Amino acid sequence: MTDHCDGDFNPIGSSLKIPAIKFTKLFINGEFVDSVSGKMFDTFDPRTGEVIAKLSLGDAEDVDLAVKAARHAFDHGPWPRMSGSERGMIMMKFADLIQENAKEIVALDAVIGGKLFTLCKVIDITAESRTLRYYAGAADKIHGTILKLSKGLQGYTLKEPIGVVGSIIPWNFPTAMFFMKTGPALAAGCTIILKPAEQTPLLALYYAHLAKMAGVPDGVLNVVNGYGCTTGAAISSHMDIDKVTFTGSIEVGRRIMMAAAASNLKPLSLELGGKSPLLIFDDADIDQAADVAFSGMFFNKGEICVASSRVFVQEGIYEKLEKKLVEKAKATVVGDPFDPKVQQGPQKGYYIEPTIFADVKDNMTIAKEEIFGPVLCLMKFKTLEEAIKRANSTTYGLAAGIITKNLNVTNSGSRSICAVIIWINCYTVFDVDCPFGGYKMS
Ligand code: NAD
Repeated sequence: MTDHCDGDFNPIGSSLKIPAIKFTKLFINGEFVDSVSGKMFDTFDPRTGEVIAKLSLGDAEDVDLAVKAARHAFDHGPWPRMSGSERGMIMMKFADLIQENAKEIVALDAVIGGKLFTLCKVIDITAESRTLRYYAGAADKIHGTILKLSKGLQGYTLKEPIGVVGSIIPWNFPTAMFFMKTGPALAAGCTIILKPAEQTPLLALYYAHLAKMAGVPDGVLNVVNGYGCTTGAAISSHMDIDKVTFTGSIEVGRRIMMAAAASNLKPLSLELGGKSPLLIFDDADIDQAADVAFSGMFFNKGEICVASSRVFVQEGIYEKLEKKLVEKAKATVVGDPFDPKVQQGPQKGYYIEPTIFADVKDNMTIAKEEIFGPVLCLMKFKTLEEAIKRANSTTYGLAAGIITKNLNVTNSGSRSICAVIIWINCYTVFDVDCPFGGYKMS
């Protein structure tokens, strides 16, 4: 099942080695169990296309078992009934365990996602244990309000956990997505059935194991691996799931909405795709602008929802900036993400050079549709008004960026571009304290 394994695993310099795969079954009601059908599926090393492990393949029957466990834990178990501070302390312990096991988790994260090992250390693991701590801190701050009513009466509102939550996540950030979904649900006192993407099924099982070690009661956090059209569909259409929270493509978001409408009308949270504009003005520092535009697009191999995939450059600096970006693309080392010299790892099984299309027109398919890979569209503009209009000419509304020294331009741009995150003179800077969401179809 694995090439290697030992506690002192050091991937740097041993490029093809992978850490031990400890958990391959479904995690239901606090136990690792085989799927009802006994079926298995393969998970691959995106560097080589080789099979890393065989995992239990969940289906509607397994989802049903997980929902029964989650329902029981919600209706009768301690998790929603304990105080917020008790839940928060268990979540803090969970975050501590992530830090304690960081070495192994980082290596797994890099292998399964083809991510730069050095980046995983900083972004995925450190940042995501902070996400968990952030929500742990919120657990005891979920209150209601006292209302003064007429005739001397008083009423009160109470914020309650919604119940059993189904979470369906994509493959691009298996760790971040896991904690962005489970963190708030755990803090509120909900119970969860999480389906990881079929391409990246391993880490959620590892985290479920750590959650149990931290003291999360059985049935509160269940992980059912499987395909979208079977396991995912069983979650979205399940009559006893109270809410679904999904991150992924618009197409699948739409299917989940239809399944929810056709079943129990469960409410949804949908975090969908993007085609985000970055506006670079003539007064920008060219080197800084090139750095921001390049990393904004090619960070994590372009596999990030907020990627600055439409870069609008004012005509005075367009040619210079194009030259800089092409130089950067040519100098990028693509290869094994464990090699410290490498700047871009594999997509799922393929190595794609950072690719720049210049003089792109707004009506071209590459300018309109999300590619979700290392492809940047470069476009020229004349005025602020024109740039804003073209930036907004999209069905997406996730993120945007503006590079200029002119405060009036940053103010007008950030108030006029329809995107939930607007970065000024930087891009893909995240902080757990900042909220995240989307306008329009994002
Ligand atoms: P995807 O929509 O193909 O799959 C996401 C998840 O949905 C997977 O777990 C998949 O198995 C499941 N799924 C597929 N069909 C389903 C169905 N019929 N019913 C229920 N579940 C089903 O997305 P992906 O390729 O894994 O991820 C890329 C997409 O995710 C991009 O569009 C990207 O922009 C988006 N994304 C958005 C954010 C955000 O925060 N807005 C973050 C990361 C990724």
